[in-house]
Amino acid sequence: MLFVTLGDTEAIGASCHFLKIGETGLVLDAGADPEAEGLASLPRFDIIHNNAGWYIDHAVVTHAHHDHIGSLPVLIEHFPHVMVHMTRATRDLADFVLPASLRLQRRRQREGTSSHPPLFDEEQLEIISYLYLTHEFEDTFDVSGIRTDQTVTAQFYYSGHILGSAGVLLTFEEKGQTRRVFYSSDTNLRAQSIIPGGQYPEGPIDVLMMESTLGADPEAELTTRRTEEIKFREALKRVIARRGVVLVPVFALGRAQEVLALIDRFKQRGDIPAEVPVYTAGGMRAIADIYDTTRYITPRLNPDFQVFGVAQRRMPRSYTAKRNALTGPSIHVASSGMMFENTLSNWVAQQLVEDEENAIFLVGYAKEDSPARRLIEAAGNGSDGVLLDRHVGMQPLHCEVERFRFSGHSHRRDLIQLVEKLKPKKVVLVHGDTDARQWMADNIQFFYPHIEVYLPGVGEPLEV
Ligand SMILES: [Zn+2]
Ligand SMILES: [Zn+2]
Repeated sequence: MLFVTLGDTEAIGASCHFLKIGETGLVLDAGADPEAEGLASLPRFDIIHNNAGWYIDHAVVTHAHHDHIGSLPVLIEHFPHVMVHMTRATRDLADFVLPASLRLQRRRQREGTSSHPPLFDEEQLEIISYLYLTHEFEDTFDVSGIRTDQTVTAQFYYSGHILGSAGVLLTFEEKGQTRRVFYSSDTNLRAQSIIPGGQYPEGPIDVLMMESTLGADPEAELTTRRTEEIKFREALKRVIARRGVVLVPVFALGRAQEVLALIDRFKQRGDIPAEVPVYTAGGMRAIADIYDTTRYITPRLNPDFQVFGVAQRRMPRSYTAKRNALTGPSIHVASSGMMFENTLSNWVAQQLVEDEENAIFLVGYAKEDSPARRLIEAAGNGSDGVLLDRHVGMQPLHCEVERFRFSGHSHRRDLIQLVEKLKPKKVVLVHGDTDARQWMADNIQFFYPHIEVYLPGVGEPLEV
């Protein structure tokens, strides 16, 4: 089997990995880099075009985060005969996420923050939404290539990351032997507030392609969800008692719904006064609806829980009304999670950062040089200023900044446990910063010296 990653190695960008199994061509995920614009945000599809005999018969999409699905319309344009596979909930989310991405690309072009035309249009999205083939967790489906008699099958395993998220097990015969290859995608072995922890195939397997998001985060493994929840609860109580405003920057898909579930629990138990308003905005509200409508057919800790059962107000759109909503005490759950420029969370942070009664509580992954990471680092260094938006410049940093670990990703010790459980012969590390992947590689090699570990760069063919 040949493995070639088309994106997503040196940093978390566009997840898309090409596999050539005999004459069958597959891609695992078709993501786009959320921080890049236009063609630069896409995986390197040109690598497939430029290699004679390489072709994509099937695309298997693991979940609806932009870095895993954002380039799907472009992939289908390049390879019109590709069969696209996903879970049912991922399809429901895709029908919201891809049009939202198009609207965002249009807005950036209109506002002049991007000089790139949108990568696809409504008509394309309308057509491709009928192409998606959906499968239940653990059902076997065929992903064999059209130009070969060799059979390749796939199964989704629920991955505990967000609604509908899955890892993929591929099974095929190669040189007279049955081979099993597992792609973890984004994975979480442990339960969150709404969704339970992931499920995995039985080991041993031949090749594990594994994420490494938290590989360079030594603190994540030292915390438990329980202690983080208590810390979060006490921090919210503290800010509300002093009538401050709290911003919780979140990814609209996944983290937003999990944080709302948690705040609801605190209110139900009387830890936070019920009348403290919780503001939400934009896409996370539509996504909450999909969480709610799929609650009996996807893995849940409590299928009766509804995200829209949580009392919440819509963040108003006009500037004045938005400013007025920022009176304390109040809680604002806003995206983006990394507080990228020109997002609501970045704007709210700019309004809150200079007052010491306010707080910004970060609950997710923040990549290097993102505004969220700059804020964490400035607060950690005791710095008195922070750069949230390059056009605004440095702002005084007086508000409380805290970080809570409610990641949708497994911490690195759990990822090592996953290696232990799956007993692979080879591990290919993807989806992490360079130092994150290196820590994972060093530790897998230390604990399991017989396992071959690879850290492929974009476009480097790897025979595994
Ligand atoms: Zn994800
Ligand atoms: Zn991801």
